Amino acid sequence: MRRNTVKRALVAFALALPGAAIATVVAAPAAHADGCYTWKRNLYQGRSGDDVRQLQIRVAGWAGRGGIVRIDGDFGPETAAAVKRFQTAYGLRSDGVAGPQTFNKLYQLQDNDCTPAHFSYRELDDGCGRGGWSGGPQSATDTKATAVRTMWKLEALRRGLGDRPLNVTSGFRDSNCNKQVGGASDSQHLYGNAADVTSPHRSLCEIARASRDHGFSGIYGPGYPDHDNHVHVDSRRENNRDKSANRTSWAAPDCGVSTGR
Ligand SMILES: [Zn+2]
Repeated sequence: MRRNTVKRALVAFALALPGAAIATVVAAPAAHADGCYTWKRNLYQGRSGDDVRQLQIRVAGWAGRGGIVRIDGDFGPETAAAVKRFQTAYGLRSDGVAGPQTFNKLYQLQDNDCTPAHFSYRELDDGCGRGGWSGGPQSATDTKATAVRTMWKLEALRRGLGDRPLNVTSGFRDSNCNKQVGGASDSQHLYGNAADVTSPHRSLCEIARASRDHGFSGIYGPGYPDHDNHVHVDSRRENNRDKSANRTSWAAPDCGVSTGR
C-alpha cells in the first residue's frame, strides 16, 4: 500500500511538470512486482548486463528460422530481432526495444517460479517418475536453469502453433533413467536441454516444422528412427558441456525437415 501511495504521489508531481518530465515518467518500465524477476530499465541494442541476459532467456524462442539467441548479456542485433518477433507474436508495437509493454507481457507469461505460463518444473523433471534435477552431468542447479531455458522456447513454440496445448512426454532424465529408456549416451535430455513433445491439436510434422523457428538446434521427428510418436527438440548448439560439436541437427524426413531446411 505504502509503495502505491508513493508512486501515485510521484505521478501527480510529474503531471504538474512540463512535458519532458512527464515523458521520462511514462517511458520508465512499469513498477510491476513479479515473484521471479523485475526489469528496472528499458533495454535495447548496445545495452548489457544481467537484465539483458534475463530478457534473452525469455525471447530465445523467437530466434527465427535456424537461428539462436546467445544468452550472453549483450543486447545485439539477434536479440533485437527476437524481441521484435516476440512483440509481433503478442500484438505489441514491434520496435525491438524492451520497455514497459514488453516487460508487462513477460510478467503476464511468467509464473513466480520463473517458468513460463504453460510449462512447469513438474512437467520437465519427471524423468522416469523420480522427479528432481540431480543425477545428470551438470549440477542440479544448472540442470534446472537449463530446463527453464528449454521451457521458454517451448512457450514460444506453443504460441507459434496457435496457442494450443503441447504435452511434454519426456524432459530431464538422469543417467539411470536415460539408460532405462534407451536414450543416446550423451543425450541432451541429461542436461535438461531437451523435450519430447506431442499435441492433441497439432500433427507431429506441424510441430517439427514450427520448431525450426523457435531456437531449437536439435529436432528429430517422424521418419527418424524411434521418433514417429513424438518430436524431440533441444538446444544442442548452446550446450558446451556435452561431447558433441555445437551444430544444428534436424531430421524429420517425413515432414521435409532436415538440417538447413
Ligand atoms: Zn528426446
